[in-house]
Amino acid sequence: MLRLTELRLPLDHPPEELRQAICDRLGIGAEELEQFNVFKRGHDARRRSAIWFVYTVDCAVRDEAGVLARYRAEHPGNSHVQPAPDMAWHNPISNGAVLAATPGYKRPIVIGAGPCGFMAALILARMGLRPLLLERGKIVRERTVDTFALWRRAILTPESNVQFGEGGAGTFSDGKLYSQVRDPRFLGRKVLEEFVKAGAPEDILYLAHPHIGTFRLVSMVEHIRHEVEQAGGDYRFEARVDDLLLNPATRKVEGVRLATGEVIEADHVVLAVGHSARDTFAMLQKQGVDMQAKPFSMGVRIEHPQSVIDVAQFGPSAGNDLLGAAEYRLVHHAANGRGVYSFCMCPGGTVVAATSEEGQVVTNGMSQYSRAERNANSGIVVELRPGEDYPDDPLAGMAFQRHWERQAFLAGGGDYRAPAQRVGDFLAGRPSTVLGDVVPSYKPGVTPTDLSTCLPDFVVEALREALPRFERKLRGFTMEDAVMTGVETRTSSPIRIPRGESGQSVNTPGLYPAGEGAGYAGGILSAAMDGIRMAEAVAQDMAGLPVTL
Ligand code: FAD
Repeated sequence: MLRLTELRLPLDHPPEELRQAICDRLGIGAEELEQFNVFKRGHDARRRSAIWFVYTVDCAVRDEAGVLARYRAEHPGNSHVQPAPDMAWHNPISNGAVLAATPGYKRPIVIGAGPCGFMAALILARMGLRPLLLERGKIVRERTVDTFALWRRAILTPESNVQFGEGGAGTFSDGKLYSQVRDPRFLGRKVLEEFVKAGAPEDILYLAHPHIGTFRLVSMVEHIRHEVEQAGGDYRFEARVDDLLLNPATRKVEGVRLATGEVIEADHVVLAVGHSARDTFAMLQKQGVDMQAKPFSMGVRIEHPQSVIDVAQFGPSAGNDLLGAAEYRLVHHAANGRGVYSFCMCPGGTVVAATSEEGQVVTNGMSQYSRAERNANSGIVVELRPGEDYPDDPLAGMAFQRHWERQAFLAGGGDYRAPAQRVGDFLAGRPSTVLGDVVPSYKPGVTPTDLSTCLPDFVVEALREALPRFERKLRGFTMEDAVMTGVETRTSSPIRIPRGESGQSVNTPGLYPAGEGAGYAGGILSAAMDGIRMAEAVAQDMAGLPVTL
């Protein structure tokens, strides 16, 4: 196969033009092109009057070696035609089933059924190692009922909500599936292929910015559970891990204790608990597991009519179905030294209540696959620094989050409504008393107020400076009636649990800190990729092989 990159065609090109463009690029006749598939499709909207699709295509041609040699001779230094890389995932061990049948075999434990945990469990199960996945929350359909109870009736279930339960934090989300992380082994591709097998739309395999939407995510995580179970793994729900059992002399993991008191022995524990498992982080600190404070960000969610964003991004092509609802990505370096950036932008979506603790308000965003809701929303967040904004203690970032989430709860009225403010009022430094044409989507509702009461001063200052700069890049961004809702605090983990080259905690052998909670991922795709890596590390250790992360 050959991989062709940077094939550019106009937005409204007829489908057959792609085949012709491939032949033109390679200088071959139509009969020499045996087959092709689109590996990636993005768009270039830098000139709004002339938007282009940009393709990466894999194709099989007659006499591949000859075509490649001729292309290279005719285009020296041009790398847009290359042999397609091997993207297949290779099982690093061959004796998983034999190991699992050995008398005294201890199953690996995975804590957490988010993307990191369910992917780790899937890979361990496929390797024959019969993992046991322990999840504090409920099975996804029951969890959905609990999550909706907060949104519709202001009733929070602390163990079953947007953060906790089958599918993890990303289940009620936009399901964006792209990541900036280096991926030389194409683990991202492996994740996407597994997601498609489990019912995700096939276009996630080739769109440059794929997303699934929340509805499909729910059935996808169910399918993955069935796969894990069929391959010999098990899930247990409402099984919160409250303690680690460590060998007193070596600190080696010997098992876990559940909230019920039940003890489960294990030599290998993948810790994939996400960024909101605050009680679990406190337990890990008590157990002496090495942890560090990690920088994260906080701010607000902003909502605009999607049509305003579409026009700003696509000009005359706004509303074209081929482009879908427009996204944006904004960054500004404020004079107070803080980076301000858009985070987890959800086109055509809704702002959601994302707290997991009582008496707090946290925002985030989600959408359906169609991205057809009236508003676009995005976090607009400001960088925080441990040691400067709060003490440089591993758990201090968590306390900082809690403080501001509580302020937001109080500013919203103390009943899970969120504090909200019109952008015009925020920039003018006056509280909002009413909202305007942009109807906020946050449920169970918002209270117009002054957001500066629930944000640190330097965050307010950085936001006030950044918003007009964003207007220069995206016309309409500071429209008076755009709505800001607070507070957005769960942007990433405030903690890092360092691991060594074997994937294990640097001072607690047998513990594999993984995914977003441990500071090794920032999103669904990267968390799932990390889950594969940790499953491989566990398997290699069990098989007595050197670990290659
Ligand atoms: P999590 O998904 O947080 O999973 C951790 C799991 O561990 C949870 O199910 C939790 O219940 C369980 N757990 C915690 N403690 C224990 C314990 N002691 N015992 C047993 N179980 C435990 N990312 C994207 O890439 N794209 C998006 O569009 C996107 N949208 C988002 C929208 C929302 C509303 C939210 C909240 C997040 C969104 N994210 C998105 C972020 C994404 O969800 C996370 O990055 C990702 O889920 C992290 O995966 P994880 O497996 O590391 O942790």
